[in-house]
Amino acid sequence: GMPAVPPPPLAPRRQSRQIMVGSVPVGGGAPVSVQSMTTTLTADVNATLQQIAELTASGCQIVRVAVPSQDDVEALPAIAKKSQIPVIADIHFQPKYVFAAIDAGCAAVRVNPGNIRQFDDKVKEIAAAASAAGIPIRIGVNAGSLDKRLLAKYGKATAEALVESALWECSLFEEHGFRDIKISVKHNDPVVMVRAYRQLAEQCDYPLHLGVTEAGPAFQGTIKSAVAFGALLAEGIGDTIRVSLSAPPVEEIKVGNAILESLGLRERGLEIVSCPSCGRAQVDVYTLAEQVTAALDGLPVPLRVAVMGCVVNGPGEAREADLGWPPATARGRSSSRARSSRPSRSRRSWKPWSRRRSGLPTRWAPN
Ligand code: SF4
Repeated sequence: GMPAVPPPPLAPRRQSRQIMVGSVPVGGGAPVSVQSMTTTLTADVNATLQQIAELTASGCQIVRVAVPSQDDVEALPAIAKKSQIPVIADIHFQPKYVFAAIDAGCAAVRVNPGNIRQFDDKVKEIAAAASAAGIPIRIGVNAGSLDKRLLAKYGKATAEALVESALWECSLFEEHGFRDIKISVKHNDPVVMVRAYRQLAEQCDYPLHLGVTEAGPAFQGTIKSAVAFGALLAEGIGDTIRVSLSAPPVEEIKVGNAILESLGLRERGLEIVSCPSCGRAQVDVYTLAEQVTAALDGLPVPLRVAVMGCVVNGPGEAREADLGWPPATARGRSSSRARSSRPSRSRRSWKPWSRRRSGLPTRWAPN
């Protein structure tokens, strides 16, 4: 078949100023980048660099490491030097760690205004140090650690509260002429999160780092992130994304890349166009789709493969794909051989996401 030509994007990208996170441009029309965060002890340099290597191999473009202690600070120079991708130091409470991370050669520093009250008098120094090093700051607001003053004002972490917190923190840096900033306003509820980013997008021109925080285990987190990022990216909002999953960070990268591919914001890698199957199926679509995915996943070329259960839509989809089942020659054929290879009804390969949620019986009992 012909290689699939991606359709035009759903909306023009929001005009944001561009920052550089190491070698990766963020904002200003740069491709939306995908990032994750290591789960190793940052102080364990080898383990952290090992995880960064795995993340890099899976398509991660920027990585963040937590810096909660002096041991972690001391590991930063080696990690920043040996990582293949830019390293952002994630710092919550200690201004002195911000300076240390900048000295260590980190590509950016993330600070959280909710935890930053004690930073107020330090902002000038942080701005000067980041400026001198030529690195940006991420202002990372999180619903779970919202500034107490704003929590009191709004009653809870509303979209308005998240945005006010972020813009207030930006203003502290702007007072010192520092605008090398990107912002995140994360919430665990995609509805609040989308509303917050929409407001933020209107009120500033900083590049935006999208995230649904504490999104949950892989399935729920994938859905929440895909829905929220999808809504925003479809409007042109978002310059870099981080999917948060209670799962290994490589999974976050796979999901992040798949979200961008789905919206045509990144060249598609392997795309399986497979049908849900139905009573017409002449092959076991579930198994075939899984086998095809397993066999081709990770190929460094864009490939669209159609796996269709029968000839109703099969030849049409296969024509649009690089590879397809049934092959075009199968068009209109319903041979006894094909019939005899109909899938067993046991659907052995299907692993349901959730069993018995409703409490209703899952077995049908003939009467
Ligand atoms: Fe059913 Fe055929 Fe459509 Fe698959 S392609 S869902 S088997 S009609």
